[in-house]
Amino acid sequence: MEKWAIGVFASIDAGLGVHLEVARQLGVPTVQIHGPHKINRTQSAAESFLKKCEQAGIRVTAVFGGFDGESYADIQTTARTVGLVPETTRAARLQEMKEIADFAKVLGSSTVALHIGFVPPDRNSTDYRKLLDTTRNLLDHLGKNSQQLNLETGQESADHLLEFIGDVARDNLFINFDPANMILYGTGDPIEALEKVGPYVRSVHCKDAKWAAPADRGKKWGTEVPLGEGDVGMETYLRTLHRLGYHGPLTIEREIAHEPERQKSDIGHAVRLLEGLREKILGAGG
Ligand code: MG
Repeated sequence: MEKWAIGVFASIDAGLGVHLEVARQLGVPTVQIHGPHKINRTQSAAESFLKKCEQAGIRVTAVFGGFDGESYADIQTTARTVGLVPETTRAARLQEMKEIADFAKVLGSSTVALHIGFVPPDRNSTDYRKLLDTTRNLLDHLGKNSQQLNLETGQESADHLLEFIGDVARDNLFINFDPANMILYGTGDPIEALEKVGPYVRSVHCKDAKWAAPADRGKKWGTEVPLGEGDVGMETYLRTLHRLGYHGPLTIEREIAHEPERQKSDIGHAVRLLEGLREKILGAGG
C-alpha cells in the first residue's frame, strides 16, 4: 500500500463517522469504521459492506468498538460511561467487543480499536487489575483471529498509557494515536506524547483541536476544529510520524456528524492539506 494512504472515519450505522458514500465521493482509498449495532453485526451485513468497499476501491484499515450508553457530553461523563472501564457494563461490552472483532475479521481488518476508557491511575488498585484482566481476555480472543487492538489516545497521559500497555503484557496491544485528543482531554502536548509512545503507534487519526484555557485543562473540553486550524501543528505532526517510521494510513476525523455538509467540506479540505504535506515531506509519489 502507498505510504500515508489517506482515509476517513466512517460509520455503517452508528457513531460520528461519515457514510461510505461520502468516503467514495472524497476519493480516499481507506476507511476506519465504527462497528455497527448488534442487529447489523451479521456475517451477511459484513459481506455486503465489504463488497461496497471493494466496488469503491476502499480498504477497511481498522474497526472501532463503541457501545450504547457511552456519552462524550463532558469529560466527567466520558470517564463515567466510556469503554471497558465502567464496571456495570464491562462484561457485556467485552462480549460485544469480541463480536465486533469477529465482524472486523470478515471485513479483512486485522485491527480492532477502542476508547478503552479512563485507565485507573493507581496501578495497585483493584479497578486497574480488573481492567488488565479484561483487556487480556479481549486480546486473547483477538489473537485467535490474528488481530490486534489499538488503544485510542487522549484519556490518559502518554506515560500512563505506556505503563498500562507494559502491565497488560501481550504482544497484540498497540496504539491509535489521536493528537487532538491529547489537547481536548488536556492530557499532554501531542508531539511530546507521540514521541514517547511512537514504537506502539500502528494507526493514527488526523484531527485538530484548540486547548481549553489553562485553568480548565483536563476539566473542560478543548475545542475540535478543522484540520490545520488548531494547536496540533499538522506539519510537525507528520514530520514526527515520518521520523518515527510510521507510514500507515492517515485517517481524518471530523466529529461534527450533526452538520453533514460542513463535515464533508471540512474533510475535503483536510484531504488536500494532507496530500500537500505528504508530497512536501515524502516527495512526489511518496
Ligand atoms: Mg480519534
